[in-house]
Amino acid sequence: MNINSKLFGTNGIRFIPGDDYDLEFILNIGLSIGTFFRGVNVVIGCDGRRSSPSLVNAISAGLMESGKNVFVAGMVPTPALQLITQNSKFDGGIVITASHNPPQYNGIKVISANGIEISRKDESLIEEIYFNHKYNRKNWNGVGQIHTYSSTLDNYIDSIINNVNSNLIKNRKLKIVIDSGNGMQSLSAPILTELLGCTVVTLNSHIDGNFSGRGGEPTPTTLDLLSQSVIEHNADLGVGYDGDGDRSIFCDENGHVFWGDKSGTLIAQHLINKGVNSPIVTTIATSQLIDHVASDNHVDVYRTKVGSVDVSYKMKELDSVFGFEENGGCLYSPHIAVRDGGMATALMLEVLSSSEKSLSARIEILPKFYQLKTKFSCPVESRSSIIDEMSSVLNEKIDTTDGLKIWWDESSWSLIRPSGTEPIIRLFSESDNESQLESITKRCSILIEDLINNL
Ligand code: MG
Repeated sequence: MNINSKLFGTNGIRFIPGDDYDLEFILNIGLSIGTFFRGVNVVIGCDGRRSSPSLVNAISAGLMESGKNVFVAGMVPTPALQLITQNSKFDGGIVITASHNPPQYNGIKVISANGIEISRKDESLIEEIYFNHKYNRKNWNGVGQIHTYSSTLDNYIDSIINNVNSNLIKNRKLKIVIDSGNGMQSLSAPILTELLGCTVVTLNSHIDGNFSGRGGEPTPTTLDLLSQSVIEHNADLGVGYDGDGDRSIFCDENGHVFWGDKSGTLIAQHLINKGVNSPIVTTIATSQLIDHVASDNHVDVYRTKVGSVDVSYKMKELDSVFGFEENGGCLYSPHIAVRDGGMATALMLEVLSSSEKSLSARIEILPKFYQLKTKFSCPVESRSSIIDEMSSVLNEKIDTTDGLKIWWDESSWSLIRPSGTEPIIRLFSESDNESQLESITKRCSILIEDLINNL
């Protein structure tokens, strides 16, 4: 282990237990987080991975050594743990999860008392405690105690139901197919949707830390079974979740699976129709679809860097009700301003219950945009200089919120970003015109390839 490197990545600390870090490291991280947290009561939950129970125990030991009382919530969706941290007035929370990563991975997410992941600045404070061994160790009579905390799931499901028009949804009597991907929504989504009066068909909805169904990542290419099942059962809606249950990807009644840009925009449009007029928050990488829907209704759209934590903090700052990401993250602040696959599902059911119109018919009437995604291999150390050089040779309007976003015309853009985890540069373009999309993608690709070849 390189103790001079950073511990936190884009989404907490991610690692392969036993290979990257041992349990002594996890214990010391518990001690560091316990030293960082103010107050004394910390709640901890985990996903269904094989390594999760041992990590919960090691991190709890470190927390108790720093004088914290630990409340163990067991296996729960990440947003359920975040909600309970906020609503039950814990001084902090921890989730042991690697979200959608392959089974050998695991991770640590640190949650503030307000339920949102801690800020980048607070991550640095924990790293400083860890690397400099500035632990606050207690004596035998100062160590914390451990308790079981079992009401997390019930409170989570109740909060979601209380934040939608449940009678309207019940009266619509919808049929839904749920693909939990062997992840944490197996524990809540089937119960939630049944309580909302749906006929429920489940796929991959038993917990399996090997994600032996379709894997932990829901995308239009991994949800074939969901798509077939929706058609076969004549369902109104299909939904697939990621491993820890904070993201949801939807499928219409014809089995067509679509990205979070469209589902997020539909939910935003529904909330605006209900009278919500606070700004919608999304990332620099989502479709301009939302700008059209929001501006038609005189609602502002704010864009952050890619990452749900940035969206959460911006929503808090703007007192925003709704935010979303193209990867299927939806954030609804009356419930909690963090992404939540269960809340997104209930909101989508409310969208469908607002009239007899099908999901495909609702998508069909949205403005049309075309998108292309591609990537280029590039050494990690050269990625930012390539992006800087590109911005210096272009005369078009640019936006540097995250990477480089180039506006070729009023409705065509390209976003060039280094990957957070791999030695690649990602290129993502969107236009309302298919041939313009091809031409801007080609122009960017040539520029990027030339710069990489000249390294
Ligand atoms: Mg996740």
